[in-house]
Amino acid sequence: MNYYDKHKRDQQSRSFYKSKEWQRCRQFVLRRDNYLCQDCLKNKRITQADTVHHIDELKDHPEKALDESNLISLCFSCHNKRHPEKGRRSGGETPKKRRINIYVEKANPEV
Ligand SMILES: [Zn+2]
Ligand SMILES: [Zn+2]
Repeated sequence: MNYYDKHKRDQQSRSFYKSKEWQRCRQFVLRRDNYLCQDCLKNKRITQADTVHHIDELKDHPEKALDESNLISLCFSCHNKRHPEKGRRSGGETPKKRRINIYVEKANPEV
């Protein structure tokens, strides 16, 4: 029953992405990263970036919305990988957190 809240939040972030400040910041980050996807680059792949991602999410850290050290250029598919919660509507804990827990459990007996 939180459709209304979610809808409102979407509208707020949508107007941010239309703002001049964001457009300017986005261009700055893309140029800084040579218009290349930084995650692909780590895997020695050259892919053009078409998205600028907030490392600390916009909704949790609105003060970092225009902080270029919190922004990274990504391609569409890498950006989707950074948002595993998108498209999954199971609710509660995010898959990302769960994966970290599994790593911890596995690592412990080896220490
Ligand atoms: Zn990529
Ligand atoms: Zn993102």
